[in-house]
Amino acid sequence: MENKISELIEKLEKQHSLTLEEYEYLIDNRTEEAAELLAEKARIVREKIYGKAVYIRGLIEVSNICKNDCLYCGIRRSNKSCDRYRLTEEEILECADEGYSLGFRTFVMQGGEDGSFSDDFVCGVIRKLKEKYPDCAVTLSLGERSRESYQKLFEAGADRYLLRHETADKAHYEKLHPKELSFENRMECLKNLKEIGFQTGCGFMIGSPFQTTHNLALDLKFVEEFHPQMCGIGPFIPHEATPFKDYKAGTAELTCYLLSMIRLIHPEILLPSTTALGTILEGGREKGILAGANVVMPNLSPISVRKKYMLYNNKICTGDEAAEAVKNLAERMKAIGYEIVTDRGDVKTN
Ligand code: SAH
Repeated sequence: MENKISELIEKLEKQHSLTLEEYEYLIDNRTEEAAELLAEKARIVREKIYGKAVYIRGLIEVSNICKNDCLYCGIRRSNKSCDRYRLTEEEILECADEGYSLGFRTFVMQGGEDGSFSDDFVCGVIRKLKEKYPDCAVTLSLGERSRESYQKLFEAGADRYLLRHETADKAHYEKLHPKELSFENRMECLKNLKEIGFQTGCGFMIGSPFQTTHNLALDLKFVEEFHPQMCGIGPFIPHEATPFKDYKAGTAELTCYLLSMIRLIHPEILLPSTTALGTILEGGREKGILAGANVVMPNLSPISVRKKYMLYNNKICTGDEAAEAVKNLAERMKAIGYEIVTDRGDVKTN
């Protein structure tokens, strides 16, 4: 391996930071050998903090109704072929009941920006979840809301909030989103979430249309400086009913490489091996864990709505019962030497 590559990997491991140029160099000069070295270092760092434990999060896709029109997303409002649904409070609580009995101690409510998810409604669901399952964490992923709204959700008991920044480059952000959505507001939301006290997750897609190496370096720098507790990354996968239907998907290899880099930037970060990674490559989620990820997010949504929450083509696990999926995942993790645990899985602070 080229000396400069191994030096940069070592620098990242020791200093948890590189310059933009150095991040770019590592990304542009990726080889299998470099990827394996990075993954090895990432696994060591991860195992020091989290051992072989893989945290599971029960993903409840609460609504596919969305007022936004993100160009990459299958549930964008302009997609007339999307069959819309919204879960009731009762249905959400039923998903959690099933999840609890399967060993989940974190529930993630994710959805489009559905106007019906008022503060009162969401706070009500959070309170009920917390009342019934005080030993569980509640994570929200409901998009951009006002600071006041985030504050209310936090006070109702929500622990974590996932809001991917999507790209840390304003010009790139504007190529992925319609005019009404602004990079500044996305960043403002993230700042507010963290200040309020949520364990906050940002994240980005790998291989999204128009993405350059420089964009990815900016993403890594943003992750480094923002210091989120969680970071969700996965390959972009085209959806047939979006303007990006003819663009190429991102790769599992680059995704895993970046997972390893993020693990070295923030050793304690909660890093999911995403469904998109498992979709783009058979065994992708295992590869993600082996690259330094420590979280997986199996689907707890009712089977009847699974196919309707189609963010991208060919999403996996749209037909499996949650119980089957967890069993399958547990076996997959065991086969690579890792173990799914029943735990809230909070971020560990060193
Ligand atoms: N409305 C919420 C949840 C969005 S869905 C929010 O705004 O945060 C969760 C994530 O799926 C998005 O943040 C995006 O990064 C990812 N996603 C959407 N479309 C995708 C696609 N075509 N390929 C890969 N990931 C996609």
